[in-house]
Amino acid sequence: MGKPQVHVVLFPLPAQGHNSPFLSLATRLHRYQPGLTITLVSTRHHINSIRSSLPSDSRLHLQSLPFNTADHGLPAGAESTADLPVAQFITFFKATESLYPAFDDFISNLVSNSSDGVPLCIVSDFFCSWTVDIARKHKAFHTTFLTMGAFGGAVFFSLWLNHPHRLTEKDQFPLPEYPEVIIDRSQVARHILASDGTDEWSQFFKRQLMFLNNTDAVMVNTVDEFEPLGLSMLRKTFKFPIWPIGPPLAPANEQSSSKSDDENAIIAFLDSQLPASVLYISFGSQNTIQPEQMMHLAQGLEGSSSPFIWVIRPPIGSDPKGEFKDEWLPNGFKDRIKQKNIGLLVHGWAPQLQVLCHRSTGAFLSHCGWNSILESMCHGIPILAWPVNAEQFFNSMIVVKLGVGIELARGVMESSAPTKEKVEEVINLVMSPNAKGMEIKNRAKECRDAMNKAWDEEGGSSIKSLLEFFQLSNIQGQTGDWDALV
Ligand code: UDP
Repeated sequence: MGKPQVHVVLFPLPAQGHNSPFLSLATRLHRYQPGLTITLVSTRHHINSIRSSLPSDSRLHLQSLPFNTADHGLPAGAESTADLPVAQFITFFKATESLYPAFDDFISNLVSNSSDGVPLCIVSDFFCSWTVDIARKHKAFHTTFLTMGAFGGAVFFSLWLNHPHRLTEKDQFPLPEYPEVIIDRSQVARHILASDGTDEWSQFFKRQLMFLNNTDAVMVNTVDEFEPLGLSMLRKTFKFPIWPIGPPLAPANEQSSSKSDDENAIIAFLDSQLPASVLYISFGSQNTIQPEQMMHLAQGLEGSSSPFIWVIRPPIGSDPKGEFKDEWLPNGFKDRIKQKNIGLLVHGWAPQLQVLCHRSTGAFLSHCGWNSILESMCHGIPILAWPVNAEQFFNSMIVVKLGVGIELARGVMESSAPTKEKVEEVINLVMSPNAKGMEIKNRAKECRDAMNKAWDEEGGSSIKSLLEFFQLSNIQGQTGDWDALV
C-alpha cells in the first residue's frame, strides 16, 4: 500500500443506454483496485433504478442529486430518457446541466470532509462534460466517458461542430476533418440536418465539446481491434489520451437466474429451434418504425425461412407505451406464426443478452444502438442493420465496413420502407447457407474473439487502457489483481 486511496466519482447521463458502460467500469475499477471508493452520482429516480439492478454485495456508493423535471417543462418524474419521447431529449439534456450547483456542492463536501487529502477523480459522461469545470475547481483528475462508439462519436462531433451538410447541395459530402469519410444525407438524422449552429441541439453539443477540450483524457466504450478507424479519428482531433475500455460486462441483473413468464416463453421458444436459426429483432430501448415499415417487415419475415423473436412496440404516430393493435400487422399474422411456431412477438422488453448468448440465435436485426452492436459482437452474432436515429447510422457504417452485417434499411421516413422482397432477401442472405452469409458469420466470430481478448490479462487492449488511466489519474500502488499484472 503506497499512496492514499482515491475516490472515483462516476457521473453518467441519466439514460438507459448509458448505465451498463458506467456500471461495468465501476465493477472493473473495484476488481483491479479493491481499495478504491467509487460513488455514482445521478438524479434520484435514476439512482433508484440503478440500485434495484445492483447485486446485494455491490460496493458501489450511490448519491442522488435533487432534480425537478417540472422546472424544465418536462413531465413530472421524467428523470431518464426512457420516460420521454425523442423530441424532448434535447430539453432533458439541457435540464441535466442544471445539476451543476448540486454536483459542485457534493464534490466540495467530499473535498472538505477528506481530512487526509484523498485524491479525487471524476469520470463523467460526454453529455455531462460540463463537470470538467467542477473538476478543475477542486483540482480533481477528469476523464470523459464516451458511451457511444469511436467512429459514431467522431462523425457526430464533426456534424455538430461543422454542419458539413450545409456546405453543399450534394447528397454525399466529406467531413472537413476527415475527408476520407463520406457521409450520405440519408445517414443524417432529421434534427441534425435541420441544425445550423444556432439551434438548441447544436448549442448543447458545442458546449459539451468546448468543455471536452479541458478534460484530461477520454474513455471510449469500444475495443481497439474493432474500431481502429474511429479511434484514429478521435486521436487526430483530440490531443489528450483516448482509451478504448469496452466492451462492458453483462449487467448483474442479466446474469440472474430468476426469470419472468415472458422471459421463460422466450427461452422456451429458442430451446425449440435449431442452432443459429433464429433472427432476433429489436429497435432498442425506445425506438420504433413507421406503420408501413412494420407491415413490410412482418410480410418479409413470414416469407423468409427463418424463425424470429421480434421485440415490438406501437409504430411511430401511436403511444409508444400504449396497447399494441393487431391491425398494425398483416391479417392473421399473429395466429399463423404461433400455429407454425415460427415467430414470437415480445411486447416491451426482452432479456437481450440471454437471447444473444442462446445457441439458437443466428442473427440480430438491430437499430444499431451502440450497446446492441457491442453485445451482438461479444456473442459473434451478425447484424442486419436498420439504423433509425442519431449516431446509429454511423454505427451501421462500421457494421458494413467490418463485414459483420448488412444494412437492410435506413431511417424511418415512409419512403425508406424496405419492400417485403428486400426483407426476405437480406434475411435469407445472412441466415441460410451461402458463401456471403458464411463470410459475414465468420467475421462476426472474429470480432467476438477480439472482444474477448480485450480484457485478457496478458496484454488485452482494454486492460492496457485501464493501466494508463490508473497511472495518469494517480490511482496506483494499491493492492488488487492489478498488482499481478504490472
Ligand atoms: N435492451 C434489452 N431488452 C430490450 C431492449 C433493449 O435488454 O428489449 C437493452 C440492450 O441489451 C442494450 C440497451 O437496452 O443494452 C439498449 O441500448 P442501445 O445502445 O442498443 O440502444 P438505445 O436503446 O440506447 O437506443
